[in-house]
Amino acid sequence: MTTDARAERPRFLDRGALTCESCGSHNQSELTAEVAIHFPGLKGIKKPPVWVFPKLLVCLDCGRAVLGVPEKELRILTVLAKAETEESLC
Ligand SMILES: [Zn+2]
Repeated sequence: MTTDARAERPRFLDRGALTCESCGSHNQSELTAEVAIHFPGLKGIKKPPVWVFPKLLVCLDCGRAVLGVPEKELRILTVLAKAETEESLC
């Protein structure tokens, strides 16, 4: 796995010719994106967003988009989600 999160390639993009799960089209394009992931609700306001720069697979017929969260950012989200669960138990 590379250390550059921007260069990470999600596994779903390596499965060969993909069809859109929504409309069945093969007219898809691999793009890049910038996404700020927030936790929902009032508790989420206290946490900074987790910025992700994923590869994005966009169906150019229906607009469905699929992205993979890079490993480093996924670990951050996992830690924040666990902390949120523990806060809700207190
Ligand atoms: Zn589609």
